[in-house]
Amino acid sequence: MRDSSAESSSYAPCRRRATGMARFVPLLILLPALACGQKSDGPSIKLDQVGYPADAPKVALVSVPARTFQVKRSGDSVVVFKGTLSAGATDLNSRDVVQAADFSGLRTVGTYYLEVPGVGRSSNFSIGPDVFSRTYYLAMRAFYGQRCGTSVDLGPEFPEYKHAACHLEGSFHASSGKQGRLDNVGGWHDAGDYGRYMVNSGIATGTLLWAFEMFGSNLKGIKLNIPETGNGTPDILNEVRWNLEWMLKMQDDDGGAWHKQTSEHFCDFIMPEEDHLPSELIGTGKPPYKSTCATADLAADAAIAARVYQPFDKDFAARNLRAARAAWVWAERYPDVTFKNPPGISTGEYGDSDCGDERLWAAAELWRTTGEAQYNRFFVDHYASYLASLRALDAETWRVVAPMGLWAYAMAARPDADPSALAAVRKAALEAARKTVERTRRNPYHISLGEGDFRWGSNGLVANYGMELLIANALSPDRSSVEAALDNLHYLLGRNTFSISWVTQVGQHPFRHPHHRPSGAGHNPAPWPGLLSGGPNADRQDPVLGALPAGLPPAKVYSDDQGSYASNEICINWQAMLVFLLAGVMQ
Ligand SMILES: [Zn+2]
Repeated sequence: MRDSSAESSSYAPCRRRATGMARFVPLLILLPALACGQKSDGPSIKLDQVGYPADAPKVALVSVPARTFQVKRSGDSVVVFKGTLSAGATDLNSRDVVQAADFSGLRTVGTYYLEVPGVGRSSNFSIGPDVFSRTYYLAMRAFYGQRCGTSVDLGPEFPEYKHAACHLEGSFHASSGKQGRLDNVGGWHDAGDYGRYMVNSGIATGTLLWAFEMFGSNLKGIKLNIPETGNGTPDILNEVRWNLEWMLKMQDDDGGAWHKQTSEHFCDFIMPEEDHLPSELIGTGKPPYKSTCATADLAADAAIAARVYQPFDKDFAARNLRAARAAWVWAERYPDVTFKNPPGISTGEYGDSDCGDERLWAAAELWRTTGEAQYNRFFVDHYASYLASLRALDAETWRVVAPMGLWAYAMAARPDADPSALAAVRKAALEAARKTVERTRRNPYHISLGEGDFRWGSNGLVANYGMELLIANALSPDRSSVEAALDNLHYLLGRNTFSISWVTQVGQHPFRHPHHRPSGAGHNPAPWPGLLSGGPNADRQDPVLGALPAGLPPAKVYSDDQGSYASNEICINWQAMLVFLLAGVMQ
């Protein structure tokens, strides 16, 4: 996810060029959008198309007036549950009036559908103990699909989903302070484009490492079928290492990290191996050339990696700790070197005018890993002014990482924690989560988004609220937090105004047209699997959203259209939050 100006300037060339259009138009004709906001609200029975854990609450929503419902077994249509719908409630964000069908009493493992007399039948869904493991597998494996600098093949399960090795040649851009060739192969393609960005890698990589650190026991048995599978290291860590290795290479000898490695502008909608624009290390254009936000994010991620990889690869863990320390020293020396795209560069900027929160996160992680007083002192001196960030989790979480720093301190459980800092952070985190639970319960769609949250990456924010709730549960176990996290997941997987699953190839009615080059340029009938859409965005920063009718309620400003980069792009930061949420609710 990036600022709209960079995207607008990037996407327009793809649409103007004949080659881009030739690929773009037939796709839309062959595969008409399942849900295009203004045209159809889709089926009126809204539920999680993946399913519900057997022991959790199970609620579907019905958006046309009705009285009763039945749950039927999908194999033989035998009725297994009957119920009465609740009174209607008006959802202000979508203007839907929804009635709840509560079938929490049904706990038998199986595959089912809902039937509502006079309305119709729902998508199929499952009830089971491990209902989300397949979705986790696809969502985490999607990172493998984003690998840069190597060939990728999702076969034999997805036989034609592959690309050849890409972006093998790189060089220093003049803004980097160096010159000549530096290939710097590796990392993940950031989003629908092929750039690699340290700041967004920072939040994505840190979130995934936390998913393993907190929920590793849920994930141990899940093989991702990636090249490293079977090497003795859990596959989530194998996959994250692919990106970490690239991040470490973005660190200069003086400890600072360059901001990004991209071409000068976005390429057409082509496969990655067809993109021959030079891949360049891009800096700030003047000394010290590296940026504080990128460097502090690297310090945070590498500090987490130093403890997480310790049992599996001591040398790699040690290398990460050295990198984290060097990055910390650099960021102390240069606390506020911000980044703006230098002249001639129009790829994602990931600009951030304040890197204090990145340094707070780095301090918390370095202290958590090493216990050294200097990092603790920095955190204690600075945390108080960031407590408010826990009350409103910004959708652009790559820019606001203070919650990561605060949560890291609270979860560290170190005896040398400052008692008053620890108490203040715990109190703020738990209070924020309690308010999120209350807001989720009041919302007719049972989501945590507040008024004004339907912005760029709103689905990522839904997952991020889920993350907040699961962290609160880790700090102070509370079933209501976990249930509210599950509610947010149900929204992403189909219990929404469009009755659409916002994860590709997951559920009976997933979205089909992500702003994602390998999906748009390939010849497969369906997009690459396991990818989360950005979601409804009332700010309408792209022409597709701009053409939707005026006055649409915010939750309906979405189009399943490849051209809608502001509502239908995929991105590693919200993909990581989806993985965290799935990992946390799996059993
Ligand atoms: Zn690549």
